[in-house]
Amino acid sequence: MAQLLEGKPIAAKIKEEIKQEVAGLEIKPVLASIIVGDNPGALAYVKSQTKTAEGLGINYQLHQLDVLTAESSLIEFIEKLNRDKAVNGIIIQMPLPEQIDYKKISEFILPEKDVEGMHPANIGKIVFGKAGILPCTPAGVMELLESIKINLRGKEVVVVGHSEIVGKPLALLLLEKFATVTVCHIGTSEAKKLEEHVGRAEILIVAVGKANLIKGDWIKEGAIVIDVGINRIEGKIVGDVEFQTAEKKASYITPVPGGVGPLTVTMLMRNLVAATKLQL
Ligand code: NDP
Repeated sequence: MAQLLEGKPIAAKIKEEIKQEVAGLEIKPVLASIIVGDNPGALAYVKSQTKTAEGLGINYQLHQLDVLTAESSLIEFIEKLNRDKAVNGIIIQMPLPEQIDYKKISEFILPEKDVEGMHPANIGKIVFGKAGILPCTPAGVMELLESIKINLRGKEVVVVGHSEIVGKPLALLLLEKFATVTVCHIGTSEAKKLEEHVGRAEILIVAVGKANLIKGDWIKEGAIVIDVGINRIEGKIVGDVEFQTAEKKASYITPVPGGVGPLTVTMLMRNLVAATKLQL
């Protein structure tokens, strides 16, 4: 039976370190958060970020824009925050209304204020192993692995999902640690090879957003399973991995919720402190 790999205690430890760092800074870091419209999911993230920021001595500045805001107006707003010396980090809440292309606007945030680590310049640095600001969820997954002192060198790691925000940067971070990384995606599923790859994984990381995509009995005996997925089913939040069967085979498994999630918001605050230090 797998041991639960919970994010909260690890996040609590890191938050303590962040708190100390913030206390040692000559200014109170300011995180500017932009929400366009009033999507309930985005508002829930804002609430959790506000609470975390308050607990760490970080000033969380919320800017709620009209749902009909044009892309050009949002870009102007971002540029205003870029110029504002009092703002240390900028985050744009997802989802955005359809008139706004996230990929396009994320390029307008100054790389040194890009606390989500999504600016092409920050993503590019990962390729060279020189990243200062890492995308939050991949950084959180790396913290989870570090917490169980796993040596990644030579390990068979399978990442399911190749999004810009999770799968791709995560694969690069794992490569940096000399893991043997396989990245699976929709093409893998279409070729009916997902089960085969999952079955080889000593460490399996799934970030797709499809409940029960990964069947518990596909998992290799003793594998470490990190489920990034968040799916709402009949009012309940579940991951992408069939938990009840998977926990019988894995050595470690993250719960959903309570696994990767608490680390994502913590990494955001850690990035803010790193960005603030860079600016100072
Ligand atoms: P995206 O939708 O951007 O990416 C999903 C990825 O899964 C894509 O690469 C997609 O491939 C791939 N995919 C889709 N269907 C299949 C399939 N049947 N088999 C294999 N691969 C498939 O999502 P995100 O990366 O943004 O998020 C993934 C999940 O993680 C979501 O549930 C999200 O809510 C959650 N999440 C959780 C966070 C946390 O803090 N816990 C933070 C961020 C995300 P293709 O593009 O080719 O279709």
